[in-house]
Amino acid sequence: MTQKTGSISLDLLAEALKATVDGIVISEITGDDCQIIFVNPAFESLTGYTADEVIGNDYWAYIQGTEEQPEFEVLRQAVLNQESCRVILRNHKKTGEPFWSELSISPVFSDSDQLTHYIAVQKDVTQRVEKERGIQERHESLLSLKDELQELASRDSLTGLHNRRYFGQELDRLWAVHQRLEATMAVVFIDIDSFKLYNDHYGHLEGDKALKAVADKISESFSRKADLVARFGGEEFVVVATLENGVDRFIDHLERLRQSIIELKIENQYSAVNPFLTISTGVCYGIPPKDSSSSLFTRDADIAMYQAKKTGRNRIEVVSYEPDDDTALKPVS
Ligand code: GH3
Ligand code: MG
Ligand code: MG
Repeated sequence: MTQKTGSISLDLLAEALKATVDGIVISEITGDDCQIIFVNPAFESLTGYTADEVIGNDYWAYIQGTEEQPEFEVLRQAVLNQESCRVILRNHKKTGEPFWSELSISPVFSDSDQLTHYIAVQKDVTQRVEKERGIQERHESLLSLKDELQELASRDSLTGLHNRRYFGQELDRLWAVHQRLEATMAVVFIDIDSFKLYNDHYGHLEGDKALKAVADKISESFSRKADLVARFGGEEFVVVATLENGVDRFIDHLERLRQSIIELKIENQYSAVNPFLTISTGVCYGIPPKDSSSSLFTRDADIAMYQAKKTGRNRIEVVSYEPDDDTALKPVS
């Protein structure tokens, strides 16, 4: 006589389990033991273990090596709470070959609510996981490519400094920050003196090298994270910095930069200013007034730089911005 369960015979049920394409493991629970009592052929072909090899063993032995994976903890908690769960774990076949296993476990209780068995259904989802991972990796590499392109688009190719477009964006941001904190900021314009003469006499290639050397000195001189250094165009550079230690120390710093450009000893023998390459500098500093445009200090720093040109070059001209006077330049000394 065949035993009946509902309208399906146990034999039919056993045939159904055997025919299932997913691996099925039934384990008996006694105390802490979780002893395998049944595996179907799909489990055998999935893992490479035969029924004879695994029946009688602890099921956890076949999940070994997955303990470090985050989903293992989900599985452990479910077993502790005698609940069902579904996890994806990177498991290993008998041969050692890794595979991604989607594992669903369900507890079976006796009439007296005692946990008696666990039914585990295992599916090989390697292809799906690897496809998803491939998509994820492609997505991540596209994101990093986007970052690289953005970085490239914000740089000037000759000097490696930020370009004018980036300067414009950052100036707006820095302006707003200083405005909010009522902090003193400076905009500095630096222009190489008599550079046309330099190009005319030493050639454009030498001109490029000189430009790069000057750019390196400027960025070396303003290397704090908060400093903004950019090539404004041609042989002109712009710096934005916070005046943390007062204006005198800042001007001293610019003086040292002016001197260090001469010390590069880039010959410019036809220049009327100095036998070596020099720079003229214009500075405008102050607390950005409320409701003002970020171009305010840039405009005055540019005018100050041209004053430095007019009054002999190789020098620094400084103006401070006073809130009650938004047009006039105020020489500091
Ligand atoms: P000033 O002291 O008044 O600034 O005189 P200047 O000759 O430096 O100024 P001007 O504006 O007359 O000439 C700027 C020169 O800078 C002309 C241009 O050829 C040169 N220049 C601009 N960009 C580059 C560049 O990328 N490479 C080289 N080699 N030269 C450049
Ligand atoms: Mg110049
Ligand atoms: Mg110029």
